[in-house]
Amino acid sequence: MGAGAEPHTSTARHGPGDPLGAGGQDRGAAEAVGGVRHIGQVARAIAFVGDYNTSAMTYDIAIIGGGIVGLATARALLEKAPALKLVLCEKEAELGTHQTGHNSGVIHSGIYYKPGSFKARQCVEGARLMVEFCEAHAIKYDRCGKVIVATSQEEVPRLKTLYERGTANGVPGLSMLDAAHVREIEPHVRAVAGIHSPNTAIVDYSEVTAALGRELVASGLTIEYKFPVSAITRVRGGGLAVSTPQHTITANKLINCAGLYSDVIARLAGANTEVQIIPFRGEYYFLRPERESLVRGLIYPVPDPEFPFLGVHFTRTIHGEVEAGPNAVLAFAREGYRFTSFRPRELAGTLGYSGFWAMARKYWRTGAYEMYRSLSKKKFVEALQGLVPDLKGEDIIRGGAGVRAQAVRADGSLVDDFSIASGPDAIHVVNAPSPGATASLAIGRHVAGLATQTFGLV
Ligand SMILES: Cc1cc2nc3c(=O)[nH]c(=O)nc-3n(C[C@H](O)[C@H](O)[C@H](O)COP(=O)(O)OP(=O)(O)OC[C@H]3O[C@@H](n4cnc5c(N)ncnc54)[C@H](O)[C@@H]3O)c2cc1C
Repeated sequence: MGAGAEPHTSTARHGPGDPLGAGGQDRGAAEAVGGVRHIGQVARAIAFVGDYNTSAMTYDIAIIGGGIVGLATARALLEKAPALKLVLCEKEAELGTHQTGHNSGVIHSGIYYKPGSFKARQCVEGARLMVEFCEAHAIKYDRCGKVIVATSQEEVPRLKTLYERGTANGVPGLSMLDAAHVREIEPHVRAVAGIHSPNTAIVDYSEVTAALGRELVASGLTIEYKFPVSAITRVRGGGLAVSTPQHTITANKLINCAGLYSDVIARLAGANTEVQIIPFRGEYYFLRPERESLVRGLIYPVPDPEFPFLGVHFTRTIHGEVEAGPNAVLAFAREGYRFTSFRPRELAGTLGYSGFWAMARKYWRTGAYEMYRSLSKKKFVEALQGLVPDLKGEDIIRGGAGVRAQAVRADGSLVDDFSIASGPDAIHVVNAPSPGATASLAIGRHVAGLATQTFGLV
């Protein structure tokens, strides 16, 4: 998928300067305020380099990461201040290559999230903006609807709690269903009760990303492709030098939307976000075309409140296929899309993080089950049969995989809400897991608002 934007044209004039090491910095304290954390001393934490000429300052803001959140942020910034000189640095040759290009394609309606939470607000608002964007850009989407089903009486109280949450979050059109009504909507599902969300929709987020890229380039955004940021240093007299091993650009401010590497970029910029990204691979199967009639729209189980992203489900895609999955297993590389993908340094980074071991101690049973199910198609099919009993092993074939960026605290707890850290020179989108694609346009607006205040843009 390409964004239709210019190929890489580096504006680099200088060498990368001294890359920041991870240690020895004066790290700013972070204080959580809703979904936003304020970092006091980010500016002091970025090291100085001497020989950059501030009169050659190229951009007002550099955004790192060409996924849907980085693009949505660029869009919201240019809406607020059309004359801004913006650059977006993306390490790949195309936009949306990672989480944005490897997800289930659901425009979530916002049922699951704690009422009043940042995520709940951003998801409901984001879903509305996403549909508006699709309509304005003639991008195909389909309000195919979703059922969340309780397959046993024990799950019914949690289903009711979900319904109350969804209603409190302002999700339109929700209704509780008895077993017969579930079957009217999804004839092959076995359930004792369900929730129907008629407005949940599907889309191809790669198409959204491509449209965003085209629109933004036309509005003056510069995109630096194949620009893997490896150092961030302070320019004498003000501003930042953002460098790859070969090139450097300079900008007054920085916004980090690097997804699976958000913690790495935050550390390069000297921010202490107090979390580390742990990559979890989610693997899918496809239903064979002749069995796609088993599923009409989206069929989800009642989520485990501790692991809302777990629980295999069925998703019809906008291109007509039906996906089954995903599971969630530890990835041995941040962009490790196969079981065999392995980057020793990244795996060492995961295994060397105390938060990983604290998480593993708490949740080892769940992790072991997910790993077992990843290796055993029989187990995967059994999990799917919990929702659609008529499904057989021969009905599914291996599909793709995506890797989720999940921020984990040092005590092993998972950061559930979206998390954004801000300081005088830099804003970091630290944690934007699902429904991050749905919420992206709302997240972008939020970040642009934060930039206006903290960077003093207008
Ligand atoms: C399996 C799976 C299913 C999902 N399903 C859904 C769904 O149905 N609905 C939904 O709303 N959400 C879903 N999500 C979540 C959603 O995909 C993410 O929340 C969203 O894509 C996050 O976007 P992003 O821009 O933050 O990250 P990304 O898309 O990962 O973009 C980050 C970008 O930063 C770039 N980058 C990283 N490091 C550097 C560097 N050093 N220099 C330059 N560039 C760099 C990367 O190359 C990448 O392009 C799912 C996620 C997964 C993994």
